Amino acid sequence: MSYTDLISKAAKQYLELETSQTHTRCSGCGNYGILNALMSAIALEWYAGHQVILANDVGCSGNVSDKIMINTMHGLHGRSLPLATGMHLANPHIPIFAMAGDGATMSEWVNHLIHTARNNYNITFLLNNNHNYWLTTGQASATTPKWYRMSATPGETNAHPLIPTQLVLASWGTFVARWYSGNVEQLIWLIRAGMNHTWFSFIETMQLCPTYSKATPDKRYEERVYDIGVRDDYDSTNKRQASQVVEDFDHIATGILYQNTQEKDFLSLQEHRAWISSTPVAETKSFDISWLLSGLRV
Ligand code: SF4
Repeated sequence: MSYTDLISKAAKQYLELETSQTHTRCSGCGNYGILNALMSAIALEWYAGHQVILANDVGCSGNVSDKIMINTMHGLHGRSLPLATGMHLANPHIPIFAMAGDGATMSEWVNHLIHTARNNYNITFLLNNNHNYWLTTGQASATTPKWYRMSATPGETNAHPLIPTQLVLASWGTFVARWYSGNVEQLIWLIRAGMNHTWFSFIETMQLCPTYSKATPDKRYEERVYDIGVRDDYDSTNKRQASQVVEDFDHIATGILYQNTQEKDFLSLQEHRAWISSTPVAETKSFDISWLLSGLRV
């Protein structure tokens, strides 16, 4: 089914997710397609805006939080995954999304990605990888390819880039997908698959940033990307094969590169919760602390 047919199927649901906020991103930015795909996926899974939550941080990826009519929380740089984890533990029945850029995720707080993956929290995480920090006008991030001249790099970048999908595979991630921002239809499908994978779902979006990311222009992707689904010899349950594929940047595979449905998620391994309560929130008690706050008034 084409993208247009898909959207017309859930047009009412989709339109209810729009806001009246002005879009301020640059022309040709891959974030437009990401927002569009996220709204389409939510609509096509028949969720209303109040039934899902998105945790954002700052930067161009965070700019989405007032452009979509769902519950959102716009937190500190690099902290969208801890926010999403808290939301999930507080109410495991609500679909939780998190979104962040490569500077926040791979450079500043890469530990959050590792621990979210290995704990297998049920979060659908979109890593918008535009290979630079736009906030500092094109500073190199940990995913910027080697030997590129960036705004705050005297000479050229001289460190090997981190490969996000490889890191998540090594951190026991159970759903590893990659996507190129020129193909919105594929991302809709991947987000929906991530929502239906009831563990941690990692989707790297190789996002175009025509303003600052000279290292990854549109042409570079157009010439190299292919859908892993066309390969008969590929088994997406084989971690070793996935590990080899994600390191090939001459032929960039997109789609679900690895999926493991045999593991358990964090909450189902917390056996002691079965006799304490059904949800973590039910274990907490409410205390009236107004007397304490009144003592702080000046
Ligand atoms: Fe998009 Fe790059 Fe412009 Fe940010 S700076 S809005 S990521 S094109």
